[in-house]
Amino acid sequence: RELPDDPRSDNMTREVRRACFTKVSPSANIINPELVAWSDSVAKLLDLDPKEFQRPDFAQIFSGALPLVGGLPYAQCYGGHQFGVWAGQLGDGRAITLGEVLNSHHERWELQLKGAGKTPYSRFADGLAVLRSSIREFLCSEAMNGLAIPTSRALCLVTTGQSVSRDMFYDGNAKDEPGAIVCRVAQSFLRIGSFQIHAFRGKEDLEIVRILADYTIRHHFPHLEKLSKSEDISFGSAQEGSPAVDLTSNKYAVEVAERTASLIAGWQGVGFTHGVLNTDNMSILGLTIDYGPFGFLDAFDPSYTPNTSDLPGRRYCFANQPDIGLWNISQFTATLSTANLISKEEANYAMERYGEKFMDEYQSIMTRKLGLTKYNKHLISKLLNNMAVDKVDYTIFFRQLSNVKADSNAPLDEHLTPLKSVLLDIGKERRDAWISWLQIYVEELVSSGIPDEQRKAAMNSVNPKYVLRNYLCQTAIDAAEQGDYQEVRRLLRVMEKPYDEQPGMEKYARLPPAWAYRPGVCMLSCSS
Ligand code: AMP
Ligand code: MG
Ligand code: MG
Repeated sequence: RELPDDPRSDNMTREVRRACFTKVSPSANIINPELVAWSDSVAKLLDLDPKEFQRPDFAQIFSGALPLVGGLPYAQCYGGHQFGVWAGQLGDGRAITLGEVLNSHHERWELQLKGAGKTPYSRFADGLAVLRSSIREFLCSEAMNGLAIPTSRALCLVTTGQSVSRDMFYDGNAKDEPGAIVCRVAQSFLRIGSFQIHAFRGKEDLEIVRILADYTIRHHFPHLEKLSKSEDISFGSAQEGSPAVDLTSNKYAVEVAERTASLIAGWQGVGFTHGVLNTDNMSILGLTIDYGPFGFLDAFDPSYTPNTSDLPGRRYCFANQPDIGLWNISQFTATLSTANLISKEEANYAMERYGEKFMDEYQSIMTRKLGLTKYNKHLISKLLNNMAVDKVDYTIFFRQLSNVKADSNAPLDEHLTPLKSVLLDIGKERRDAWISWLQIYVEELVSSGIPDEQRKAAMNSVNPKYVLRNYLCQTAIDAAEQGDYQEVRRLLRVMEKPYDEQPGMEKYARLPPAWAYRPGVCMLSCSS
């Protein structure tokens, strides 16, 4: 860490060398913090009594205006490849860790305030966050968790009463927006970029890569350490006090690759596009982190990117995410190789495992989405092709598909009936294309032999009814900017149980309105 008695150990923006983090305190100028939304399930993870949310000083603590007793606030140093180009030091420019909580299940949870003021890593920016982006991060963290996709969590959303100046369209017209702070929670916020930065700084910093890998394995991959120890004893060469990295780096690289692969397979399954898959936004634990201009697919479009900065290249579009995951893993394994923690062969093996794990998981997810028992490549690629041609709503289509009956004697038209609401305005030719796909699909259903009701229940447990579409976020943001947070709280409740039928909540499961496709709603800038 950067030395505490270092006279420069303040918020002054600088290059931080030979340190993984800097001790720093929240410094936003908080006038009147207010707790506007919170998650009871995250409180539970922290063994925090929900009554604590009523404490008069809660908003003060979770805006950084008052210190968290027993905490150790710091900001992390990391680097990253942005859009494929090495960008040097980035770091927590506006995220400040308050400390870690060890809960009664011996789980370690890191609490981080996003938007609580400048750190040495703030570069040219202000260290703050606006309400609209904080609402998006708060809601999507919990929505992803509801979808059973690994993610950082969000404990609460606090408004600061301070205005923040942002230029949303980079047209030179900055405007004042309300400021807010999310307290996000994860077992670790370490990223691929946390390792890269030290390898990029040259030979003398490679030791830091080793120390950090050792720390990460001990704290976050202890099962690997145990595994290696037992193997090692069987070979009679266990060494007391030998660093975990020597024994486990290879397994570590493989596990990071595999976790990343299953994470991205999960995203593809629910139609989530992250939008900014730079290596500094790739969690070492395989969590979805750093919610910025993300988007769930509405009308199916493989080239959909929610990020206006991703145009025209669309590097981070929906269909590219699996390849980008591999590219990012190759940067991680290259970092470990540079630090001599793994060999070239081991690096290649980890990348191979990424590919295999991704295909296994993706095929299994798509097979379950279709309610089938075995993977049918042709059927799935034909389906996705049809969906792209007719711009079919990704979420509603799969949810409705569970209503198709496994009856090969039914009139062909009948199979189409449950899908009518998503196959609007298609001509005769396209209708025929869908009927011929459905014919093969129904045959597959019949041969699987699963009763309709049983298949429907299984399909509904992987095809969400509710996803956090950008236009839904926007509606909640518009109300919140007028001081009404009801919609934020309502969306949180709905998105906590996305696979359940929720009577009375149907409006959140409808086709998006036309305005949902406006730039600024379906596509966002990084300004946040
Ligand atoms: P992102 O593209 O959101 O992953 O951010 C890239 C880098 O910019 C990270 O190092 C962030 O900490 C930093 N950053 C983004 N917004 C701000 C801000 N308002 N103030 C300080 N740093 C920021
Ligand atoms: Mg980031
Ligand atoms: Mg961000």
